[in-house]
Amino acid sequence: MTSERSGERRGLVIVNTGNGKGKTTAALGVLLRSWGQGLKICMLQFIKTKTSNYGENRAARKLGIEMVPLGAGFTWLSKDIEHDKALAREGWELAKTRLSDAAYDIVILDELTYLLAYGWLPVEEVLAALRDRPPGMHVVITGRNAPQELVDDADLVTEMREVKHPYRQGIRAQRGLEF
Ligand code: ATP
Ligand code: MG
Repeated sequence: MTSERSGERRGLVIVNTGNGKGKTTAALGVLLRSWGQGLKICMLQFIKTKTSNYGENRAARKLGIEMVPLGAGFTWLSKDIEHDKALAREGWELAKTRLSDAAYDIVILDELTYLLAYGWLPVEEVLAALRDRPPGMHVVITGRNAPQELVDDADLVTEMREVKHPYRQGIRAQRGLEF
């Protein structure tokens, strides 16, 4: 038996942060890999609009993966901040039910850091939910500006650093790469 197959599973908290591209894409890689392993997964998308139909949403439907867009879109462009806040709060309530459900092997909280950055959700509340989760559950959190307290409590933190991004040359989002 190889070493990675032996022993109890230890649930990890994984944070993908930084200004470079790849945070959500990397989380989707985990999603695909764990789906292939027959694990029970869900991905909650805190910024994507409820009507999102990105490539990943289409794939999730085909694969039978629970992927829930929770937000009102790009909140900083929104006209109704109170509505966004309420949606964020509602999203976090759903996240808490998933984080306390031992049936799930992996829970992905995509763009959760924005709620923390805006002060809509206290970081202590997230840390408490992570501490109280079933011991074997992996949690992936993505988004820019992950707060230090979250970084301190996490097991695996990767900072994506922008070296080049095509947006800077005026190249628009590409199907299959961005949406
Ligand atoms: P992706 O979903 O492509 O993995 P991400 O999760 O790392 O990106 P976000 O901060 O969630 O990045 O931004 C989402 C959108 O912004 C994506 O369409 C992405 O291509 C774009 N983006 C990411 N990084 C940059 C950057 N450094 N400059 C401009 N646009 C970016
Ligand atoms: Mg992202």
